[in-house]
Amino acid sequence: MTMNAGNQRFEKIRHSLPDGIVASSDSHVLRAYSQDLWPRKMIEIREQGPDPEPAMDLVLWPENAAQISDVARWAVRMDCALYPYGAGSGVCGATTADAGEPRPRVVVDLKRMNCVRSIDRKSMTAWVEAGIIGENLERHLNQEGLTLGHFPSSLYCSSLGGWLATRSAGQLSTKYGKIEDMVLSLECVFADGTVAETARAPRSAMGADWTQLLLGTEGTLCFFSAACVLVHPLPEKRVGLSFETPDIRTAMEFARMALQAGLRPAALRIYDPLETSLTLSRAVLKESGFGGGAAIVAQFEGGAAVTDAGAGELLRMAPLAGARRIGDQLAQHWWEHRYDISYKQQLIMSHGRMILDTFEVAATWDKLQAVYEAVKNVNIGFGIVLAHLSHFYHAGANIYFSIVAHAGLTPDVPARYDSIWSDVMRAAEGAGATLSHHHGVGRLRREWIMRERADWMKIFLKVKNGFDPENHLNPGKMGG
Ligand SMILES: Cc1cc2nc3c(=O)[nH]c(=O)nc-3n(C[C@H](O)[C@H](O)[C@H](O)COP(=O)(O)OP(=O)(O)OC[C@H]3O[C@@H](n4cnc5c(N)ncnc54)[C@H](O)[C@@H]3O)c2cc1C
Repeated sequence: MTMNAGNQRFEKIRHSLPDGIVASSDSHVLRAYSQDLWPRKMIEIREQGPDPEPAMDLVLWPENAAQISDVARWAVRMDCALYPYGAGSGVCGATTADAGEPRPRVVVDLKRMNCVRSIDRKSMTAWVEAGIIGENLERHLNQEGLTLGHFPSSLYCSSLGGWLATRSAGQLSTKYGKIEDMVLSLECVFADGTVAETARAPRSAMGADWTQLLLGTEGTLCFFSAACVLVHPLPEKRVGLSFETPDIRTAMEFARMALQAGLRPAALRIYDPLETSLTLSRAVLKESGFGGGAAIVAQFEGGAAVTDAGAGELLRMAPLAGARRIGDQLAQHWWEHRYDISYKQQLIMSHGRMILDTFEVAATWDKLQAVYEAVKNVNIGFGIVLAHLSHFYHAGANIYFSIVAHAGLTPDVPARYDSIWSDVMRAAEGAGATLSHHHGVGRLRREWIMRERADWMKIFLKVKNGFDPENHLNPGKMGG
């Protein structure tokens, strides 16, 4: 390990590191671990240059739950703040430290914990260590003829632990569910070093559901060291369908009818007219016979008979809901390019003074159109707001807004970013949405979770105090 000489917080702990754990305090390493992919930080660095010093003091790479437990006990002894870390693909600053945190700041990266421990083909479950990167997990399962069914756009750069900690949602969520639907049991390491596993049963009424209580808490209550997840056979058949509707309202109604009739396409995506025209391939739209309005892509997969039945029923419903079938080239094109768009964002962000972020909310069907209109009508200055819907439920859906703006003549671009965020959040909140569907809270929505869940956050802080009384785990997050 190289020493980060001169840093007083680090000097306090340099002689006491837990035995046998790989560690680094190299300044390049620390700098890499001092941020995640929160666009605000990227804008700040672009406009103002990098911070003079990295925000973190030490990175540790434990290899098993026992080593995480040693780290947790050591952190209590040495009074350190611990920041659980998966792959750093979070977009809300959830892995980052507050400038005011006075204790040594230690990142605990779980990437060395990347094994598929076992697969149970009878129960169709797999025990997987939490640091595994999504792509590697999926490849491993595919070699066994299986899939997890979880495909966030960040599949290649996010980990199982990060998914669990942020309540992640993948592109095929309408069939396979979100991460919380895929977990049977969690292996957790708590702030006092206790290692415990939640109930490993398809369901239990032995008191509260601890698995669901811990998911989405962004490393503030415990580390996830491993999880038992549900797996499925690789699909026998896939059918992609494309439709168009004159407007987004009709498209939402079509989706509502389908979901409430019990259909579960693996993917269902509705693009509003602006996002359709700016992000979908013009050539493919033309080839598909798209005539304008909102574009819809549906994909069914699974056993051949069930897949055909689902696709057939959606085709039957489409004209009743005012949707016109167009050429399936659009669905095919979406499938082949489904990971492309997220990586194009860097292109826009590399232009000075540009602001780009995504804002994913959810609402019940009765409020969805109002949420859409409220956010679309926000005056963001020089810029546009695109929208698509990609996760659907019996009772509602999410809307994924992309905000592309130019800061104009404002000297302080990060401040402009903050004011745009406040305006869109306020609009969505006022129309009755929950302010994150799957990206989570982090530092970005810290104040907003205290507004949206005011009473519950008071209770959460008591829970946090019980689990981690000295606030060693990811301080400054979730209201803590
Ligand atoms: C291009 C791009 C596309 C994206 N697309 C999607 C998408 O489709 N769906 C989606 O849900 N998200 C998406 N995201 C957001 C991001 O990938 C998810 O939030 C993901 O779940 C984060 O995983 P990670 O391993 O990178 O976690 P990190 O960013 O490392 O951490 C996120 C949070 O989880 C905590 N944490 C991490 N590991 C553990 C652990 N083992 N135990 C306890 N706490 C832990 C951290 O402390 C932090 O609070 C996207 C991000 C990018 C950059």
